Amino acid sequence: MSKILLHTCCAPCALPILDYFKSNGNISNITLFFFNPNIYEEEYIKRLEYVKKVGEHYGASVIEGKNDHDVWLDYLKNNLDNDLKSYLENELRCQFCFKFRLEESIMYAKNNGFDGFCSTLQTNLYKDTEFIIDEAKKLCEKYGLEFVELSLDKKIAYEKGKELCKELDIYRQKFCGCEFSKSVVQ
Ligand code: SF4
Repeated sequence: MSKILLHTCCAPCALPILDYFKSNGNISNITLFFFNPNIYEEEYIKRLEYVKKVGEHYGASVIEGKNDHDVWLDYLKNNLDNDLKSYLENELRCQFCFKFRLEESIMYAKNNGFDGFCSTLQTNLYKDTEFIIDEAKKLCEKYGLEFVELSLDKKIAYEKGKELCKELDIYRQKFCGCEFSKSVVQ
C-alpha cells in the first residue's frame, strides 16, 4: 500500500499509531486526516493544533477536513429518536458519530488517491473499538479501499500515548469532544 489515510481524532491517540508505523517502516505512507466536526468550539482548535505538532514530529502531512458542527448535529438528529443529551457514551449517539466520521473520511480517501485507510479510533481505550473496526471494514469494502488493521493492543497503545505526550509536551484532553460529553471525565 503506497498511500494510507489515517483518520485522526486527537494527538494522544495518534502518537502510538505513528510510532507503530515508524517502527514498521511505513511512516512515509501516512497522511493524517483531522475530520472531527463533533468536537466543540475551542476544544477543536486546541486538538488540531496538537495533531499538527505530532504530524510535524513524525514528518507526516496533516489535512484538515471540513468542520461543520451543525451538519454533524443534523446527521445525528436525523438518525436518532431521542434527545441527543440522553445517550450514554458508546451508545447509539456515539455509534452514529463514528459512522459519520469514518464514512466521510473514507470517501475523502477514495476521492484523493489513497489506497488504504485506518483510524485512531481503532485503538482508543474508551471507545467501542469492536464496533468501530467492524464499521470501518464495511465502509472500506463499500468504497473499494483497503482497511489497515493495527496490531496494537489498546491498553498498550494508551500507555504509549501517555508516555509520548509527556515526552513531546502534548495536551491530553479529559473528555471525548462534543458538547454532550463535556461533563463525562475520562
Ligand atoms: S461522546 Fe464522543 S463519540 Fe460520542 S457523540 Fe460525542 S464526540 Fe461523538
